[in-house]
Amino acid sequence: MNKPTHIEAGGCREAPILKERGQREVFCGLTGIIWLHRKMQDAFFLVVGSRTCAHLLQSAAGVMIFAEPRFGTAIMEEKDLAGLADAHEELDREVARLLERRPDIKQLFLVGSCPSEVIKIDLGRAAERLTQIHAPHVRVLNYSGSGIETTFTQGEDACLESMVPVLPETDARELLLVGALPDVVEDQALSLLDALGVGPVRVLPAGRADGMPHVGPNTKFALLQPFLGETASALSRRGATQIEAPFPFGEEGTTMWLRAIADEFGVDAETFERVTAAPRARARKAIAAQSEGLNGKSIFFFPDSQLEIPLARFLTRECGMQAIEVGAPYIHKGLVGPDMDMLEVGTVSEGQDVDLQLDRCRAAKPDLTVCGLGLANPLEAEGLTTKWAIELVFTPVHFYEQAGDLAGLFSRPLRRKAKLQVVAE
Ligand code: SF4
Repeated sequence: MNKPTHIEAGGCREAPILKERGQREVFCGLTGIIWLHRKMQDAFFLVVGSRTCAHLLQSAAGVMIFAEPRFGTAIMEEKDLAGLADAHEELDREVARLLERRPDIKQLFLVGSCPSEVIKIDLGRAAERLTQIHAPHVRVLNYSGSGIETTFTQGEDACLESMVPVLPETDARELLLVGALPDVVEDQALSLLDALGVGPVRVLPAGRADGMPHVGPNTKFALLQPFLGETASALSRRGATQIEAPFPFGEEGTTMWLRAIADEFGVDAETFERVTAAPRARARKAIAAQSEGLNGKSIFFFPDSQLEIPLARFLTRECGMQAIEVGAPYIHKGLVGPDMDMLEVGTVSEGQDVDLQLDRCRAAKPDLTVCGLGLANPLEAEGLTTKWAIELVFTPVHFYEQAGDLAGLFSRPLRRKAKLQVVAE
C-alpha cells in the first residue's frame, strides 16, 4: 500500500477504541441497490428474499414504479423456506423468464438476503450455473445484502467485490477510482484528474458491462468511499496497489486525496496548484457560507453509514465543530487511517450496544446527533437535534463543488431547530 506523504502527526489513529457488540440499529445491504442500479445502466439486481425485502426496496425506491425497473425480488414462499421446493430450479425459471423479457440486461446480480442465508441457498453455485446458461450475453454474479451482522453500505462493497475476480487482466499503469458516485460528481473528479494530467483513469463500477475496468499489478486504485474494505482487499489480491489518502470530503480532504494521486503519478507542484487553486477557493467560500452555524457546536455520531470518521474529520477541521463521540460500524485503519490521523475526538467507538450508546449521547447532550432513522425520531422527541445518516449516502457530497452542500446538510437541522424555537417563544 502506498503511504500518504502530506499527513500531519497526531489525531486518533492510535487512540483506544471503545468496541461494543450488542443490539444494533441499522438498515441492511439491500439498500445499496437503490444507488447501484442507477449507476450500472445494463445491470439487474434480483434479490432472492422475502416479502419484507421486496417492501424495503419498493418503498425506498418508489419512483421506479413508473419506469422499467432494474431490480426485483424473487420472493421465497413458505414452501421454499421449509425446504419443500427446489429453490435452484425456481430461480433458474425466474431468471430465464426475466432475461427473455429484458434483452437489455447484460449483468445480473443475484442478491442474497436474510431468508436466503438462513436456509443456505448457494447463490454462488447458482450464479456459476446461470452464467454458463446465459453467457456470453449475460454475466451472472452474486453477493449478499443480508441484514445479519452487516450495515447498509456493505451492500455496495459486496457488489463491487463480486465483480473484481471477473475483471480482465492488464499490465497497463492505470488509475482506478473505486465507488459508485452520481455521474455529475464522478465527471468532476475525472475532469480534475484530466487537468492534472493523470491517466488513463478507469472507474469501478462502470456505467455499462462492456466498459468495466481491467486490473493488474500496475493498477493503482483510489477509493471514493470509506466502506469498500472487501473490494480493496479483492483488488489487492489481483495485484493492484491502493493509494492511501483521506477521503475527498470538503476542501482539505479533496485536496489531500488529489495530492496523493498526483504524487503517485508524478504531477509537479506548480501544475497541482494551477489546477486546484480556483476550485479550492470556491469550496472554502461555500463551506464558510454554510458552516457559520456549526462553529463551536458539538456532534455525536452513531454508527451507521461508515462515513462517520471522514465526515467528522471534515466537520471538526473545516467547520469548527467538536466531535464528542464518533461511532462507526467497523473501523478499517487501512482505509480511514489517514482521516483518523487528522481527527481530534473525545471517543472513537466501533460496533454498537445501542442502549449504552444512547445513555452516553443523552449525558453528553450534543448540539447535533447523526444517526439512523430509527433513533432520530425518539431523540428529536427528547429535544436533541438529529441528522439522518442515510441522507449522506444519497446526496452528492464528494469533491470541491459539493463541499458547501456537505456543510449545509449538517447546518440545516440546527437552523431549523433555531427557527422552531423562535416560533415557540
Ligand atoms: S435482507 Fe433481511 S434485513 Fe434486509 S429487508 Fe430482507 S429480511 Fe429485512
